[in-house]
Amino acid sequence: MPNTRTLPTAHRTAVRVRIADAQGKTPAELLAAIKPAIQGAYAVRLLKSGDVDVMVPDQKTKNQALNQQEGEGYKILRQDYPVEIPGMPLSLGIKDGKGANNNEMIREICNATKKIIPGIAINRIRWLAGNKARVDRMRNGKTRSTVIVSLPTQALQHEVVKRGVVIESQIYDARLYNNGLQVKQCYNCQQWGHTQSACGKQAQCGECASSHQTKECTKERVACANCGRRHRAWQKSECHTFQKYMETISAKRAELLVATARLRNADTSQANLRADGFELVGSRKRGRALSPASKQPLAKKVGRPSLIETAARDPNQTRIQVNCSQMTSSQASHSQANSTQDSSMADFNNLMDEFENSIISSTQDEL
Ligand SMILES: [Zn+2]
Ligand SMILES: [Zn+2]
Ligand SMILES: [Zn+2]
Repeated sequence: MPNTRTLPTAHRTAVRVRIADAQGKTPAELLAAIKPAIQGAYAVRLLKSGDVDVMVPDQKTKNQALNQQEGEGYKILRQDYPVEIPGMPLSLGIKDGKGANNNEMIREICNATKKIIPGIAINRIRWLAGNKARVDRMRNGKTRSTVIVSLPTQALQHEVVKRGVVIESQIYDARLYNNGLQVKQCYNCQQWGHTQSACGKQAQCGECASSHQTKECTKERVACANCGRRHRAWQKSECHTFQKYMETISAKRAELLVATARLRNADTSQANLRADGFELVGSRKRGRALSPASKQPLAKKVGRPSLIETAARDPNQTRIQVNCSQMTSSQASHSQANSTQDSSMADFNNLMDEFENSIISSTQDEL
């Protein structure tokens, strides 16, 4: 397969729009149809799903478009700008599943975070890992997991990354997230990276790779629809295609960490508040005793983000280049124990643990 996927996409600002009868229209007609609603729209791109990306000159135009009401014959699709917040207590009452309503919690978080981000608004809050994976985590004695918070604009996403978010009276650090980091497999064609609701391809069997639905399989042979080898399409550890897929996700994740670091480094106005110069009144021991379990949200260094960048370039640092699908959790915790000399590395490794757990959980949720 050609490697065009690893090319970074060109930087454009677009608004996604659902236009009635978009299918039969030419790009010029679509652009003409949307121009009155989105001032400054200069081009369109038709997507497989039938939706249309409308190119706009800048973020300000985009924000205006996103804030307007639905119009005649078109609907502007709300976009999420997610951040991930590691180290959230599993006891936090986020509701799961279809139709889950977390509005009350969102309101509380916004009220508490207003002090540092006056315009804060949140679209959605959810656990990164599925329900089953979280239950397993608790059974294994873990008390924390990662939460995904979706913001309505990029500006707010960046603010949250720079300043954090207040949840149940605690301040948490947030990192840039991208929904493309979530491991997905299609039930219809078995490919990685999308789900059946977004699939326009012919059905391929997860058991034998022939062109029928998996449930119609006569199971005469076993073949992977992705790599052709003798395993089922969902048997990740045996599949080269899956490992390639995981490498692209790891690369994306590393990119987002660097971008997170850049945002925080650029924000010098807050540096003094986060510096290490603080001393607890009283003995150090006592200060630690106040926060027994929390490795995460307290005591962050200002230099942390740039250390992540250094770590990414260090050939001795295997965690970044590691193939996540092959790494067991015992290996993960082992390497974590080895890097306690540096809180930033411990932090990074926590992140990788969460990441691996999310992979495991998405498997369990989907199969
Ligand atoms: Zn598919
Ligand atoms: Zn079959
Ligand atoms: Zn395979």
